[in-house]
Amino acid sequence: MAIRTVITWGDPRLKLNSADVGDWSPELDQLVADLFETSLEEEGVGLAAPQVGVNLNLAVIDTSCGEDPSQKLILINPEIVHTEGSQIGPEGCLSIPGIHEVLERPKKVRIKNRRPDGTWHEISGEDLLARAFCHEIDHLRGRLFVEYFGPVKRQVIQRRYQKQHKAS
Ligand SMILES: [Zn+2]
Repeated sequence: MAIRTVITWGDPRLKLNSADVGDWSPELDQLVADLFETSLEEEGVGLAAPQVGVNLNLAVIDTSCGEDPSQKLILINPEIVHTEGSQIGPEGCLSIPGIHEVLERPKKVRIKNRRPDGTWHEISGEDLLARAFCHEIDHLRGRLFVEYFGPVKRQVIQRRYQKQHKAS
């Protein structure tokens, strides 16, 4: 396993639409292991392949942040099939370190997801997991959570972000 470099806001690769995962391979096992390792290292609840510069429809989620192996999920070519309700809460992104903003997301989300062996299943998530599904699937479509805000607010966030990262 290896920690990979997480690319950050402003990198054009984060804006690309990713390609579907085809046949599973040992390289993809390695990528998944690295994504979990990198997410844990950065104290994230999930990480999408495009965030390490690999534009594939692949992401990992662990809402327990390494505490409970049964919470580890691998998303492969995932698609949202149903959403319900809404939740309002803070959201952050490993590609936009230091920025947390309140964003409305559905309360419950059901996704259709492929397994490494090529079979499909559905997974339902609520609260944090529902938010993580939306956030990671957005990455696969080239969308960052700050893009939900209007231009004025986005500019304020961007200035704050640039200031923070100039200082450090
Ligand atoms: Zn993110």
